Amino acid sequence: PETITVQELANRMAERAVDVIRELMKMGVMSTINQVIDADTAELVVAEFGHTARRVSEADVEIGLAGIDDAQGDLAPRAPVVTVMGHVDHGKTSLLDALRSTDVVSGEAGGITQHIGAYQVTTESGAKITFVDTPGHAAFTDMRARGAKVTDLVILVVAADDGIMPQTVEAIHHAKAADVPIIVAINKCDKPEADPARVRTELLQHELVPEELGGDVMCVEVSAKARTNLGQLEETILLQAEMLDLKANPDRPAEGVVIEAKMEQGRGSVATVLVQRGTLRKGDIFVAGSEWGRVRALIDDHGGTVDAAGPAVPVEVLGLNGTPEAGDEMVVVDSDTRAREVSEYRQRKKRDVRAAAGARGTLEQMFERI
Ligand code: GDP
Ligand code: MG
Repeated sequence: PETITVQELANRMAERAVDVIRELMKMGVMSTINQVIDADTAELVVAEFGHTARRVSEADVEIGLAGIDDAQGDLAPRAPVVTVMGHVDHGKTSLLDALRSTDVVSGEAGGITQHIGAYQVTTESGAKITFVDTPGHAAFTDMRARGAKVTDLVILVVAADDGIMPQTVEAIHHAKAADVPIIVAINKCDKPEADPARVRTELLQHELVPEELGGDVMCVEVSAKARTNLGQLEETILLQAEMLDLKANPDRPAEGVVIEAKMEQGRGSVATVLVQRGTLRKGDIFVAGSEWGRVRALIDDHGGTVDAAGPAVPVEVLGLNGTPEAGDEMVVVDSDTRAREVSEYRQRKKRDVRAAAGARGTLEQMFERI
């Protein structure tokens, strides 16, 4: 049965426990901080506070009401999260590197460029943009297949000397399936043989109508190599983001998604997490997929230690007891007992799934032999 403690419920709503106890009292339920209440009662309380409760799927039952929606008034604007996609050799990596160097905070010198799978840039105008630079489409599609919505918009890179190619089409399909708006970066415009007009025309065949041709798809002619029009590309991203009205509540326990994770000599399991709501702090206890940990250190995309990371901020998290997978959801919980419980539950479940798949495998092999 779905239950939650008064304390955890208060945490999830970013309300004080005493206020939750008072609310329960009004409903005729006497409780203490450690009292366990059922989901129906919790939902009533949640509604009283003006939040919306979202019952989570079976796999997340143990986390209780992790997905409580934030009250409208608690939401604050956040940076857009952008993924770059496109055909091989059209300049995805080059463009990500070039955009990274536009960060006015790290400056021309650049400082240490730490590759943690995502980075944030502060533009000329002072606005922030988060870029996910996990290579390839796989990151995007795998994560999406696992239910993680990471990206707010896609930058489709198309080389102006090559035009739309098979992986460009693939990228368009992925973005459309995910219902994520596309901005087209027509790259390599420094090349003499560049033909941006042709790229615009080709886009029409894929139901992307550029603004110049009367549609609503924004295209920017850039050169990652010559670093031209990068500022305009960023302004276009911010314009598109404004239309999406991206907001999150920074004042609640953090929830986010694992962008990448690996085991590192001398550092243990390290995960890059993109915080999606709330603020992740040093000392927080969290569950990430079927692993858990306590934040020992947070490292930003410049390689520096930070105390906290808010919505749309990517950070490297140290302190995991195991290595989670890209696309895993990360949620801060109120105790290590709870974290361990959830982690064990999920590991058991994973083993069950694997065992079932294994059994199927043997059966198939049997038939093959016959
Ligand atoms: P990716 O496979 O999409 O990540 O493409 P890369 O960023 O690795 O770029 C592929 C090749 O195109 C490299 O040799 C780059 O130097 C080159 N390239 C990328 N952007 C530009 C550009 O704007 N102009 C020119 N002339 N070459 C570029
Ligand atoms: Mg590349």
